[in-house]
Amino acid sequence: MKWVILLSLGICISTGAPPAKSGVNGAVSQAQVDTWLRNWQKRLSLDDWEIRAQIVRASELKPDTLGNLKWNSATKTATVHVLNPLDYDLPAPEIPTDIEYTVVHELIHLQLAALPRDPGNRSIEEKVVNRISEALFSLDKGPSYRPRTAVTRLASKERSSSEASRMAKP
Ligand SMILES: [Zn+2]
Repeated sequence: MKWVILLSLGICISTGAPPAKSGVNGAVSQAQVDTWLRNWQKRLSLDDWEIRAQIVRASELKPDTLGNLKWNSATKTATVHVLNPLDYDLPAPEIPTDIEYTVVHELIHLQLAALPRDPGNRSIEEKVVNRISEALFSLDKGPSYRPRTAVTRLASKERSSSEASRMAKP
């Protein structure tokens, strides 16, 4: 069996939105994350991928990131890690929406994984991913939605080429 691993890397930087007025407590279950993942996987026509989501503590992510994506193009498997609400530096009512946004963001990275990647273009990819994510999220959430990306910078530590991270506010 021919074993090909597509190497590519994206680093994303985005901040959470300002506090919202709604009254959720910030808790997010694995089932909720799985629901978001299946929903957006279907919308993005990524049904040929086997994708799983995991809620992880900050210590399992690169510093100042809100999530990441690791994929294997040969086996069409991918894992999305999202930050545990316990480690979030956002008002509780904002956390569920932000985690859903991370799922969307990482799945768009997965779409782009089909393209050859130039290490010099990672910041451009981040901008593109954020713009598409914002557009989809705005459509989904309606006019009350406020953009979740306010700052974009390129992360300095990029190791694996089949990994993409969503960065927190510097
Ligand atoms: Zn990203």
